[in-house]
Amino acid sequence: MNRREFLRLCQLLGLTLSTHSVLRASKATQRFSDKHSTPVVIIGAGAAGLSAGYLLKQLGIDFKILEASSIHGGRMKHTTEFANFPIPLGAEWIHVEPKILKEIVNDDSVRIDINTRHYDPDVDYVVYEGERLSLREAGFTKESKFINSTWFDFYERYILGSIKSHITYNSIVDAIDYSDDICRVRAKDKVYEASQVIVTIPVKRLQMGAITFNPRLPSKKQKAIEKVRVWSGCKAFIEFSEKFYPVLVEYKMNPETAGQKLYYDAAYGQNTSQNILGLFAVGSAAQPYLGLNDNELVAYILDELDKLFGHNASGSYIKHVFQNWDADPFANGAYVVDHENWRVVRRLGKAVDNRLFFAGDAYTDGDDWSSVHTAARSAKRAVESILENY
Ligand SMILES: Cc1cc2nc3c(=O)[nH]c(=O)nc-3n(C[C@H](O)[C@H](O)[C@H](O)COP(=O)(O)OP(=O)(O)OC[C@H]3O[C@@H](n4cnc5c(N)ncnc54)[C@H](O)[C@@H]3O)c2cc1C
Repeated sequence: MNRREFLRLCQLLGLTLSTHSVLRASKATQRFSDKHSTPVVIIGAGAAGLSAGYLLKQLGIDFKILEASSIHGGRMKHTTEFANFPIPLGAEWIHVEPKILKEIVNDDSVRIDINTRHYDPDVDYVVYEGERLSLREAGFTKESKFINSTWFDFYERYILGSIKSHITYNSIVDAIDYSDDICRVRAKDKVYEASQVIVTIPVKRLQMGAITFNPRLPSKKQKAIEKVRVWSGCKAFIEFSEKFYPVLVEYKMNPETAGQKLYYDAAYGQNTSQNILGLFAVGSAAQPYLGLNDNELVAYILDELDKLFGHNASGSYIKHVFQNWDADPFANGAYVVDHENWRVVRRLGKAVDNRLFFAGDAYTDGDDWSSVHTAARSAKRAVESILENY
């Protein structure tokens, strides 16, 4: 059973994995601010880093975010240049109920004006290799989509405004010294002092040794970092003059060995007349696409579609955009595999010495991982753990 199947079973059985309440300033918040004159330093401005900064801002705690690239958002990257609705090059679906958006905003007085929709459970869903099912039969009814926006837009509209001035862009952190009461974080030969550090960079980057820790991370933590498996991943969007494909085509493959691959109608539910087909591939299913140059890639995809639909896809091809997450210098992969051992993930999420905290889609409590909502929830958990000691 993989992670999503496990979560679905919990939902069917009415089991709740964790409860989520609004995080509010408390006496601990005041004690924290009285004690520390240096800020909390957050490394990375993806969903986890932005969420952590936003919560600290709400609590009135000083913080700074160091982001390696020239833009925030990390794996929520999108483009507004390809179609007349925004195209999500990374995170696209909301894997839980859309009320998660309200939970992330953590403020009951804010009205969330973001349009989302579930799939119609009775529309066609095709499992490659002949079997044809409805979305309901295939268990794809929990997913919802943003309409005319993306996860990136949601963060821009509701989270970023109050914290943007705290982000220092183009700051690649390469060393963290937490041997003293005050931690020291080095980025581009500049050293930032911190009361606590929240690390949110993708675990693949830690596997590649992007950050040196002094003292070294405890061996259990280091082993979990080395052990966890991260999928390769890519997405492509192709515009066609005709629509010859159904809502979703999922390739039948063993997620434990091969990952996941979908072709899907990316314009589903959007107010558009453009025909945009999406390709999502992670794990070894992504490999065939990753080593190709742009011309080879489009030829490969069109050939695959011609065979899949028995239709001349090449004849109605207009343009495409491709995102190779393995080649992204600050991600180097997609995300932790769905069927990873939850104990390993839980170990990744543990704090070190009450000074080094971890938040992000890989650093959770082991209930769930590899999504925007888990990254956001882990940020809340990291902020709560910081305050637990005050
Ligand atoms: C192809 C694909 C499809 C996906 N689809 C979905 C989906 O449909 N729904 C969903 O919920 N999730 C999806 N996800 C997963 C989702 O995108 C991630 O789980 C989530 O965005 C991770 O957020 P994060 O903050 O943990 O990490 P990131 O978004 O990776 O943020 C980390 C940040 O750290 C920065 N950074 C890296 N190294 C350094 C350094 N040394 N110093 C400073 N900064 C650094 C990076 O630039 C980045 O901004 C998908 C991911 C991929 C790749």
